Amino acid sequence: MKIALLCRNADLYSHKRIVEAGKERGHDIQIVNHLRCYINITAHRPEIYYGGEKLEGFDAIIPRIGASVTFFGTAVLRQFEMMGVWPLNESVAITRSRDKLRSLQLLARRGVGLPVTVFAHRTSDPETLVEMAGGAPVVIKLLEGTQGIGVVLGETPKSAESIIQAFGGVKTNILVQEFVKEAGGEDIRCLVVGDKVVASMLRKGREGDFRSNLHRGGSASSVKITPAERATAVQAAKVMGLNVCGVDLLRSNHGPVVMEVNSSPGLEGVEKATGKDVAGNIIEFVEKFATPGKTRTKGKG
Ligand code: ADP
Ligand code: MG
Repeated sequence: MKIALLCRNADLYSHKRIVEAGKERGHDIQIVNHLRCYINITAHRPEIYYGGEKLEGFDAIIPRIGASVTFFGTAVLRQFEMMGVWPLNESVAITRSRDKLRSLQLLARRGVGLPVTVFAHRTSDPETLVEMAGGAPVVIKLLEGTQGIGVVLGETPKSAESIIQAFGGVKTNILVQEFVKEAGGEDIRCLVVGDKVVASMLRKGREGDFRSNLHRGGSASSVKITPAERATAVQAAKVMGLNVCGVDLLRSNHGPVVMEVNSSPGLEGVEKATGKDVAGNIIEFVEKFATPGKTRTKGKG
């Protein structure tokens, strides 16, 4: 198969592994840097140019769009979809997943377990926001934060309220969320491919940090998940419309709750912690399901 890997940095572990897994299985896999694409939006002949050459003949595209370039990356992906190229994750689903509020609303609608979460534009009455989220301690998050940056713990009512007011002062959108204390600074990243969790790891925050992000110095180890956790992760991926994603769960007193769904999950942490060939699983999924023109949304919506 001729596969495009849509990414900016070919040297990242995840991208090198996907290329390697593709080549191992005899595919022609090419890196396409979306920031270097020119797209021609014409009614019947959508085209993409790359370094002066027209891109064509791809059977599938694997998008790995960084959070900071979602706008342009999804535009290029949408163009591929309009050209009939099968995407591993569709542009619409990626766009959805980049907005924490929208994602949680979609998941809530389908009854997926979530931490109690409150959203408001006005921050002039932070007391009510904190109370609605179950009272301090609460977690306050930037709507479009990533890698643990913009996630703050408001330990007491007073500190929670002043954090909310501070964010309100710089006019940024935030969520106020129940702090799942019993998770003990740990969360579970489930790597979903299709309708299976192919690998899962337990992430633990650095000493004294409630955030378990590996980018914030957290550590990872392989973990055996429960059937309920497995079912929650698979359902979350399905609701988001993502074939491949990382579903982050917290172990709460009332069962697994989804914190977020990541449409470009890193492979390094999870492959190294579990010894699983996740890149290989991804390529196998592409082999099985890539069909030209079989894009559910064709970039609509
Ligand atoms: P980011 O997108 O920046 O990774 P997350 O929502 O995943 O933001 O939060 C970062 C980390 O903070 C999580 O991995 C988790 O360890 C911790 N965390 C986030 N929300 C909660 C919560 N409601 N209760 C307990 N811990 C949380
Ligand atoms: Mg996270």
